[in-house]
Amino acid sequence: MTAHTTSPPAASPVGGFGSPSPLVFVDGAYLPAEDARVSTHANVLSYGTGTFEGIRASWNDDHDELYLLEATAHYERMARSARVLGLELPYGTEELVAISAELLRRNGIRSDAYLRPLYVLASDELPVRVEGVPTRFQIAVTPIVGDYIDLTGVRCTVSSWRRAPDNVLPGRAKLCGSYVGPALAKSEAVARGYDEALMLNSAGHVAEGTTSNLFMRRGDEWLTPAVTDDILEGITRAQVMELLVERTGRPVTERSIQRSELYVCDELLLCGTAALVVPVVSVDGRPVGGGRAGQVTRWLLDELRAIARRLDDRHHDWTTQVYTSAKGDR
Ligand code: PMP
Repeated sequence: MTAHTTSPPAASPVGGFGSPSPLVFVDGAYLPAEDARVSTHANVLSYGTGTFEGIRASWNDDHDELYLLEATAHYERMARSARVLGLELPYGTEELVAISAELLRRNGIRSDAYLRPLYVLASDELPVRVEGVPTRFQIAVTPIVGDYIDLTGVRCTVSSWRRAPDNVLPGRAKLCGSYVGPALAKSEAVARGYDEALMLNSAGHVAEGTTSNLFMRRGDEWLTPAVTDDILEGITRAQVMELLVERTGRPVTERSIQRSELYVCDELLLCGTAALVVPVVSVDGRPVGGGRAGQVTRWLLDELRAIARRLDDRHHDWTTQVYTSAKGDR
């Protein structure tokens, strides 16, 4: 298996992603992806023993510059995910941001792109365990083709699959094996004619989308599931919370959300690194907010897109310049 896939890259983009870029970073070296192989016997292939991240880079044509979005926060979360596994990342956060920028430069990326850092138990160890198994750290890059932004909104269903509880598979750690449940939920939703699944946790509270966090508006109040409700502590979630405070002047309420609140709320959105913000226009066939993207949702998407590309003066601390960072300009 190569770092990406055993089959040749798809000729046409799927779901907004293009073909993976040729160079990857693996354990200290920048290599062609086809030379970055892992063993058939790798521990992670059977057991999902590893952690990963997804980081966005956004291209600005006028600036002739590429910007990493919240790279520091992503690598800090990755370090926390590793800690849940009882492991430590082989590089510090600053070093990982610098490596990411270097990898984008070496691949000559001049479009939006998605970085996939991955830290796994990669040696041929059959026993199921974490300690003492040699690891592998890699980063791969995939260009984002076109606008991976959905303004029409998605039609969701509440999944029959639940988020795993913290003492089964901790959701706040972004662990490789944790994505089997969300994959089942997504495919179930699509098979039933919906775009996306909303997952409840084992207590029956609303947790999140399959790969996104959830926000809802009830009247003037914005709500999001608490971090103790088996969600991933999303980086975009934190940004949306900050932007909503700026717009509304009041903090977002973090609390457990019941399923039926999905059916009575006035605005609903999903958020994550790849798509930033996606309006939810119906849940289980019941229209949300008249079945159209809400006003605040659209504003949030515009804000995040502008911030990701440094189109305005705000929140420059959320982005890192890729091509000029070599000159020391953050
Ligand atoms: N929840 C899950 C399960 C996810 O996989 C993701 C995507 N990383 C998110 C939420 C959104 O997190 P972020 O904003 O950090 O991308």
